[in-house]
Amino acid sequence: MIHTDIPAIRDQFPIFAWHRQENLPFVYLDNAATTLKPTPVIEAMHDYYSNYSSNIHRGLYPIAVRASKAYEDARVKVQQFFGAAHPEEIVFTQGTTAGINLVAAAFAGGLLQPGDEILLSPMEHHANLVPWQQISAHHNLRLRFLPMDAAGNLQLDQLDTLADFPIKLIAIVHISNTLGHINDLETIIAWAKQRNIRVLVDAAQSAALYPMDVQQLGMDFLVCSGHKMYGPTGIGVLYGKKELLEQMPPYQSGGDMIKKVGLYSSTFADIPHKFEAGTPPIAAAIGLGAALDFLQTLNRPQWLTHLDQLTDYTIRQLREIPGLKIMGEAQKRSHIISFTLQDIHPHDIATFLAQEGIAIRAGHHCTQPLMQHFDTGASARASLSIYNTQEDIDALIQALHHIQSFFNS
Ligand code: PLP
Repeated sequence: MIHTDIPAIRDQFPIFAWHRQENLPFVYLDNAATTLKPTPVIEAMHDYYSNYSSNIHRGLYPIAVRASKAYEDARVKVQQFFGAAHPEEIVFTQGTTAGINLVAAAFAGGLLQPGDEILLSPMEHHANLVPWQQISAHHNLRLRFLPMDAAGNLQLDQLDTLADFPIKLIAIVHISNTLGHINDLETIIAWAKQRNIRVLVDAAQSAALYPMDVQQLGMDFLVCSGHKMYGPTGIGVLYGKKELLEQMPPYQSGGDMIKKVGLYSSTFADIPHKFEAGTPPIAAAIGLGAALDFLQTLNRPQWLTHLDQLTDYTIRQLREIPGLKIMGEAQKRSHIISFTLQDIHPHDIATFLAQEGIAIRAGHHCTQPLMQHFDTGASARASLSIYNTQEDIDALIQALHHIQSFFNS
């Protein structure tokens, strides 16, 4: 099953070599939390800090000019990666959470009217739920939720039952970070467009693996995090349609986001700088650009097939374990799998696996309402990525069999 270039991909992630050197087992299946970082990303950031570390946009000396160019080049790389029409539609943020907070404050807080509604789903990460709760409370907006069936699939055939509500924005996750379900963005966006409803897509779990063409799909906003795309922490992307970003008031204010400042009032820079107050995460933006370059060097159809086959293999193997239940039953799924094992606490499962050098995650995965939907408080979650192998999965399955027999003996 292992494709020929998977070992070559692994070789580009120095964390594997470090574990080998230290003689430590390392099976990394916590990719939904954050992905590992390849050498080109580490080197690009090292190069910036070593050779041209300086602030951007104002310095006139060579390294400042170089840093400014590298930062703006990274923006163009993101623009091209998502097929956006203009580089200024790409705002660098701190991550998905920061991007959603920006849209909540500047779009919902700045442009919506009391009584307007925001449509979410019950499977949202807290990052795509709590900011909407907060802004709704402050601006008298109302939240509404898409119906979801017992298996955790959104019931999009019931969208029309919502047609008469004053919904102005749908904020929806593309791939559930708990269930791995892939939501049908085409249907949601098409329905929204007919009604002049704006759509924000939380692409935290999908941006790296299922690159989207924002113009083709037609969403108004997309948010994602660099650290889940083989890039560094501290950087994220907000894509927003130009005409919307232009209408939205600034979110944070201070240096670098202004045109002219007086003692009592100021005017603001054009997009995207209007939304990038203060010194931005320069090294992280450069690192994200390197991560996108790295992704382009890989044979996408090949690793995607590998990942799909490995996910199917994992599910088949998990189903063989007595008492193991996979959460949800996806109409369409990705590489994230949550499960429970009899009444063994997921934290005990994760702790046991950690002792074997296997990294998974246990808990509510920042989706407490979804957990309530499944009448559970926590699950264990294995999430795969492009460098995982069948050996990784075999190690997981073998350890789970041990846990199962240990707790039953
Ligand atoms: N949305 C989803 C679907 C996620 O999986 C995550 C993180 O796990 C987030 C939002 C928040 O991302 P970040 O913590 O990078 O802001």
